[in-house]
Amino acid sequence: MRTNFEDQRRDLVKRLVREGYIRSKLVAKAFSKVPREKFVPPRYREYSYYDTPLPTLKGQTISAPHMCAIMCEELDLKPGDFVLEVGTGSGYHAALCAEIVARSGDEKRGHVCSIEIDKDLTKFAYENLKTSGYDLDVSVVCGDGSFTPPFRYKFNKILVTAAAPRIPNRLLESLEIGGTMVIPIGTEFMQELSVVIKRRDGVIVMSAGPCVFVKLRGVDGFSY
Ligand code: SAH
Repeated sequence: MRTNFEDQRRDLVKRLVREGYIRSKLVAKAFSKVPREKFVPPRYREYSYYDTPLPTLKGQTISAPHMCAIMCEELDLKPGDFVLEVGTGSGYHAALCAEIVARSGDEKRGHVCSIEIDKDLTKFAYENLKTSGYDLDVSVVCGDGSFTPPFRYKFNKILVTAAAPRIPNRLLESLEIGGTMVIPIGTEFMQELSVVIKRRDGVIVMSAGPCVFVKLRGVDGFSY
């Protein structure tokens, strides 16, 4: 077993670039900075840099690195962006987003707000973000992200990291005109990773390919 996580992280970034999942410098830098091992439960830590989903708590998972890379690239994250994530899980994907939107620009400092429906996972994510030093750039909220109360401000990027039957209306309302949402849409078993662009006159939805996520719960998710 290799224990040097920094070497393993470097190898994973090279692999994701070679395989075409990472296409931009900002995403490559985020992956080489965020320590995935600090977001994985201790018993799975040795697998932190395998390109696979890993268990978190209560049958939920932390997405595979290549899926996080695809979503970050499709969102076209930039320094200064205001990001809403639904499904904090371990907090890893939120930290990747924070690295890009809040740590990459000289002046523009964006922020990530992440919603998690499960109390224990909210606590798990909060602790992981604190240990890895991302707690000031990511706010974690416990609640139903499929049916959020209206926010006082809108986000220009939204990512949903659980499978939804349709685009939740409340989330679309929280997205700025011109903003992008990436969300897996389909059945409980298989989805299309959908890239939604909100325009003044409606939405454009494109597919970034098939995917499999754990299901979104809550009012606009799959009933539980
Ligand atoms: N982005 C995470 C992985 C998410 S797994 C990471 O980087 O680790 C999907 C998560 O969505 C699970 O933790 C699950 O509890 C949460 N979830 C499911 N339905 C939700 C909802 N309606 N609102 C907020 N979180 C939800």
